[in-house]
Amino acid sequence: MKKMKAAVLTEYGKITWMETDLPEIKDNEVLVKVSYAGICGTDQHIFSGEFHPRTHVPFIPGHEFAGTIVETGRAVKNYKAGDRVVVDPIIWCGHCPACLIGHYPACTSLKLIGVDMDGGFGEYINVPGTMLYRVPEGISDIHSALVEILSIGFHASRRANVKKDDTIVIWGAGKVGQSILQAVRTKTSNSVFIVDILEERLSRAVNVYPDIHIINAVKDNPVEKIKSITGSKGVDIAFEAVGHYVDLPGIVNPVRGCVQSIRGAGVVCVLGLGNDPVPVLMKELIWKEGIIMTSRVSHGEFAETIENMRKGTLKPDALVSDILHPSEAQKAFLMLENEPSSHLKILLEFR
Ligand SMILES: [Zn+2]
Ligand SMILES: [Zn+2]
Repeated sequence: MKKMKAAVLTEYGKITWMETDLPEIKDNEVLVKVSYAGICGTDQHIFSGEFHPRTHVPFIPGHEFAGTIVETGRAVKNYKAGDRVVVDPIIWCGHCPACLIGHYPACTSLKLIGVDMDGGFGEYINVPGTMLYRVPEGISDIHSALVEILSIGFHASRRANVKKDDTIVIWGAGKVGQSILQAVRTKTSNSVFIVDILEERLSRAVNVYPDIHIINAVKDNPVEKIKSITGSKGVDIAFEAVGHYVDLPGIVNPVRGCVQSIRGAGVVCVLGLGNDPVPVLMKELIWKEGIIMTSRVSHGEFAETIENMRKGTLKPDALVSDILHPSEAQKAFLMLENEPSSHLKILLEFR
């Protein structure tokens, strides 16, 4: 068996750069030499053991990655060695009620490369040829590794049907919130608000998009501020990308804040994967005939993200706080856990 090196989650809370078996490809698969892989909030949950028993150790995480094909299986016709690709990590079953109507992100047995099976934190990975998107010239390897997370933003904005001239608030300026921000800014030039409690994250957002309104929920009541700036109208669409939230005195939770921030007949789109029930006063929503919807992963938005990257309408570098060698994966996870205000997206660089 040939060998490679990978950042292996050997036990929860411990990720080790070590020798492991080089994957062998099946006829329908390609072998990808990974260039960059991003650490996602989901990886942080996996690292700490929150996804057990869905995840088992030892295991190679990583569902946001890009690389170059080095070998193709006999049945793979559209790709050849040397092609640069990103991998859409989602595997749906094809026969559950959601899959039968083509709504794959809601598949009841949805699986992800890097969550439910070994992922991209290794030097090489085998993936089916059907899960690839070709990376055009002009898009760097670093940016390619950000296609997955940005596609989460494009999927959410498609779910909420963001249109030209819509006003938007995004609760949460973390990796997902900032990806939603980038996606919605390709669609609307009207007012966008972003809410967080970490000043550094808000600064990161406004540095790239100087025309947005930032609201630090520790200093200002977000709902009041949104109402005052929109002439008490509220926004058309509110996204919630906080998940685990901190209770602040006099401030409602982020989902309820979204409900209170939308105009009549507005839309709330929830992405945060918190562990606790979130209280919402339903009459605040009903009196607006508002809609609460959710958004989970992405479905086909890789193409839209790649096209926007090619056109230069995204700011991928703004998501990246650090680039480390995968032998420093343990350090990277601890940086994200202990210093959330100083780090956002950490990329692992395989070279
Ligand atoms: Zn992710
Ligand atoms: Zn399914």
